[in-house]
Amino acid sequence: MSRHVIVTGASRGIGAAIAEFFIAAGDRVVAFSRSGDAPEGCALSLSLDVADSAALNDAVKRAVAELGPVDVVVVNAGVTKDGLALRMSDEQWREVLSTDLDGAFYTARAALASMVRARQGSIIFIGSISPFIGVPGQANYAAAKAGLVGLARALAKEVATRGITVNVVAPGLIETDMTSDLGAAKDQMAAMIPMGRLGQPDDIAGVVGFLASNHARYITGAVLCADGGLSLGH
Ligand code: NDP
Repeated sequence: MSRHVIVTGASRGIGAAIAEFFIAAGDRVVAFSRSGDAPEGCALSLSLDVADSAALNDAVKRAVAELGPVDVVVVNAGVTKDGLALRMSDEQWREVLSTDLDGAFYTARAALASMVRARQGSIIFIGSISPFIGVPGQANYAAAKAGLVGLARALAKEVATRGITVNVVAPGLIETDMTSDLGAAKDQMAAMIPMGRLGQPDDIAGVVGFLASNHARYITGAVLCADGGLSLGH
């Protein structure tokens, strides 16, 4: 059966790969991003800032009006604004927290209203291994991504009896625009990954697809690392 899937940050990178995964499976995908760009085959694409809760609510309402109840929401939109904490400005802190954590909550809350009525659904947050391994320069990003774990686990308990699962996928280092300015550091980082290579967006899309599938129906409140072993440490 064709599912209604909302993917935030679907214009490029990991979000685009996730959207393509569901499109290939025959699902109806709604893409949210700032630019409004979306992979070919999306049923609807909307331009919005996920940190704007009113815009987010309106967008989800429109998606539900056009495509029916939401079956899956993938909360993927995110940004980084790295800098050492001592020199991190309030704006650097706020931008990352408002997009990566506030935006995630607004998205999940808006989709939940539809899922609770239907008594089924799957919410998947795209976190990061950053809070688990401690990355200098990412105090804002690590705080936001760690927050997603608490958010997901609290939600998982709130809605478990409604047939809704809530999980986090924590990617390692994935080749996208977000990591394109690493330059020579990329090879150095690849050497730290036990599997010896950076991840590709597809490596994450498959994990998300699994969590949204019936095979994962008994998994909730989980954090699945997809990082080639990077978070195992040395
Ligand atoms: P990209 O920078 O390639 O893409 C980011 C996506 O998020 C774009 O679609 C962008 O839209 C969207 N976005 C950003 N801010 C907003 C906003 N305020 N409102 C709406 N949409 C927004 O990033 P990745 O694909 O690499 O990352 C996707 C997710 O995966 C993020 O949550 C990131 O933290 C996480 N992640 C990435 C890792 C990596 O190594 N790449 C590792 C671990 C986690 P637009 O095109 O309009 O700007």
